[in-house]
Amino acid sequence: MKKIIILKYGELSTKKENINFFIKNLKNNIEFILHDIDHETYYDKGRMFIIPSNNLEIITEKLTKVFGIHKIVIGYKLDTNDLEDIKKASIDILKDYEFKTFKVESRRNDKTYPLLSPEISKNIGAFILKNKENVKVDVHNPNIVLNIEIRKNETLIYFEEIKGLGGYPVSSLGKGLLMLSGGIDSPVAGYLCIKRGVKIEALYFESPPHTSVEARNKVINLASKLAIYNLDIKLHVVNITDLQEAILKNIPHDYLITILRRMMYRIATKIAHKNKCHILINGESIGQVASQTLTSMKAINEVSDLPVIRPVACYDKSEIISLAQEIDTFKTSILPYEDCCTIFVPKHPVINPIKEKCEEYEKLIDYESYIKNAIINEKIIKISINEDQKNKYEDIL
Ligand code: ATP
Ligand code: MG
Repeated sequence: MKKIIILKYGELSTKKENINFFIKNLKNNIEFILHDIDHETYYDKGRMFIIPSNNLEIITEKLTKVFGIHKIVIGYKLDTNDLEDIKKASIDILKDYEFKTFKVESRRNDKTYPLLSPEISKNIGAFILKNKENVKVDVHNPNIVLNIEIRKNETLIYFEEIKGLGGYPVSSLGKGLLMLSGGIDSPVAGYLCIKRGVKIEALYFESPPHTSVEARNKVINLASKLAIYNLDIKLHVVNITDLQEAILKNIPHDYLITILRRMMYRIATKIAHKNKCHILINGESIGQVASQTLTSMKAINEVSDLPVIRPVACYDKSEIISLAQEIDTFKTSILPYEDCCTIFVPKHPVINPIKEKCEEYEKLIDYESYIKNAIINEKIIKISINEDQKNKYEDIL
């Protein structure tokens, strides 16, 4: 009898013709995270199976961070489908578990098997009642549901399941560029997009000396947390000090943030195109600040030809915070370092910016050349989740 992990697919199981594409993607992602752990993987259209040689707990823990898995079932595989062997194995498996009530559910993948599913369940249930003390059958609300799955020449027995993350396998929907600040919202936005199968690259704007090395390290740290789900991450760091200072010097103060954000969108759009990212992603949330009113979003969005996905647009702050806590970015996000968006905040930012005014003000600075320079000088940090490559990024900066 061997331990086996059975993975039930997430939403990808609803795919029809292209289900194989999603499953292969999931398998690749799983092989990537388990590359240094001895195991065997195979799959069919319904489920994926992993036979670990040991390290079951480590593998299971890793799988709880993989998108595309609905449930992680820990079970046992017998290399026989003989009923007597199944009975003995069932008792053996259950001997260390405390429970008062149980139910047996059987399935026959092998339709030539001589007994029907209800008969198999009845047989095994009776055997458990006879051989385990103080237990009884409860078909409505049992403590344990023992699943017996009869296959050709083998049987799967399981009752323990762990909730998976759901969603689609990372990369199955292509790439997107996340505008990643040190705040609470954008890491959560990134996580939600990764969940939908989008592989993300991240883009951080900094403005030294107005923003600090600590602020940048905080973003690297947040990116590393997203890398766990994204399987690695490429972080683009773009210095916008000159551009930001020019904005501050030349643009009427109520439009500072609107123009700065239009510039950020322009740079993000160019970097996205260059890196084959199909969408921009950010942590904007409707109404949160002046630059996130509907009219502001419209005036800012207008400079980009890419779809801008705002996964937390309709979330309350408290909902964003609880997700940030769940994915362990919250504590890092609240470290008090300045972001380039917060250093020059005007007293009265415009709430309903007008496109024509933005365009008029932008003529006051040679923003094309600032943008060009900023992009030429971008620094790229590749963050890996593999132990052997960790911290390599420190050398790059
Ligand atoms: P908070 O959680 O405090 O709201 P925030 O990161 O959401 O922080 P906002 O000023 O609300 O900050 O910015 C809206 C969005 O713009 C961010 O979620 C992020 O996607 C993007 N953004 C802001 N500043 C930066 C930056 N320095 N680099 C990259 N993207 C940024
Ligand atoms: Mg925000």
